[in-house]
Amino acid sequence: MSEQVTNWAGNVVFGAREVRRPTSVDEVQQIVAGGGPIKVLGSGHSFNRMADTDGTLVSLAELPRLAEISADRKSVRVDGGIRYGVLAAHLYDNGLALHNTASLPHISVAGAVATATHGSGEKNQNLAAAVSSIEFVDGSGKLVTLSRGDADFPGAVVNLGALGVVVALTVDVQPAFELRQYVYDNVPRASVEQHLHEMLADGYSVSLFTNWTSLDISHAWLKRTEPMTGDWYGAHLADGPRHPVPGMPAVNSTEQGGVPGPWHQRLPHFRMEFTPSSGEELQTEYHVAREDGLAAIDAVASIRDRVAPVLQVCEIRTIKADDLWLSPNYHRDSMALHFTWIADADAVTPVVAELEQRLAPLSPRAHLGKVFTQTPSTIRSGYERFADFEQLVRRYDPAGTFRNPWLADILGF
Ligand SMILES: Cc1cc2nc3c(=O)[nH]c(=O)nc-3n(C[C@H](O)[C@H](O)[C@H](O)COP(=O)(O)OP(=O)(O)OC[C@H]3O[C@@H](n4cnc5c(N)ncnc54)[C@H](O)[C@@H]3O)c2cc1C
Repeated sequence: MSEQVTNWAGNVVFGAREVRRPTSVDEVQQIVAGGGPIKVLGSGHSFNRMADTDGTLVSLAELPRLAEISADRKSVRVDGGIRYGVLAAHLYDNGLALHNTASLPHISVAGAVATATHGSGEKNQNLAAAVSSIEFVDGSGKLVTLSRGDADFPGAVVNLGALGVVVALTVDVQPAFELRQYVYDNVPRASVEQHLHEMLADGYSVSLFTNWTSLDISHAWLKRTEPMTGDWYGAHLADGPRHPVPGMPAVNSTEQGGVPGPWHQRLPHFRMEFTPSSGEELQTEYHVAREDGLAAIDAVASIRDRVAPVLQVCEIRTIKADDLWLSPNYHRDSMALHFTWIADADAVTPVVAELEQRLAPLSPRAHLGKVFTQTPSTIRSGYERFADFEQLVRRYDPAGTFRNPWLADILGF
């Protein structure tokens, strides 16, 4: 490959022999008809080899941007390369909103949906759950449209890039709304033990951050409509803006201090115009049933002497259940434990394995766009409908055009 392409974190150098940037759906169909292996690269924010191929890497960044609001203003149809930040600004200009965002606006919609990317909020489902229709070029080069109500639809939305090239998606929208963001420092461990669920429910979106050097939570980020005053479960209002990772400049973070502002400038932790997070990092995340939240926190606490030295920050969020077959929130209201590690895979991997052992009794489902060591059979056994997903893959991509070693491992074929 003449051009070296890496993922955002730089821990994956893609092995593709060519990179194609089609400018139309017709061109996507021609590329697919030319044969595989083919993988689509979204914005490259995943941390493993799921988007890698030794064949053709397709970027949809040069497809004509599409953000077509429906006549009833309840949905928007977008192209397969658009990023959430661009979509969010367009929706806001038109008085509309998404129900939620991830921590950063830089990721592509199709890539985020493929991995069930989520934000937080006990009443908020993940981002994929807002998709009402998906249009993809399957392994034969045919354009397939599946919509809510179609039998295959709940299996095709969170697709790990396995079914084809997603060229368009239709996503639910709602009237625009404003939120205030508050950060509270140092939530005592006793409050977490006694009030975890109330705390996580005390806002439209709530995140708890800790670096596990102590059993206390370092800070809580609340995104809510109502103003707040005074202490919060024993924590004090931050005396200035914060970044989730200690020591990183808060200028990258969206506005805090309770200043009301548009949903898309409060729900993500990071501003679109800055490099999000620390850049030098790896990430891991596990979803457990919400009622097992405290047990999961205790499991991490039990090895915090191993976790803390390789950790930048840990974030705890909630996600409402959905019915998408490969969603980590399938039929399970969830609490997710996210880990932003240092950028040292050799040091981090054994800790990830130990963490998985500790969490195993709680049947954790890993975020498959991040770093994990769970075996393919453990992953498969976490999803009731995995066998049905396999059938979809065999049907829409019988020749394995979109298969790569990462996917073949997970699928087992
Ligand atoms: C700083 C940072 C913060 C993050 N924050 C969050 C967070 O808050 N919540 C969360 O859940 N996750 C988070 N993530 C993870 C991230 O959202 C996921 O990895 C997501 O998949 C990234 O989207 P992408 O477009 O970069 O996908 P890529 O990494 O480019 O691709 C992911 C998968 O989707 C496939 N794919 C992409 N586009 C298409 C398409 N058009 N058609 C078919 N297949 C496609 C790829 O082949 C690949 O298999 C974060 C990652 C980073 C780096």
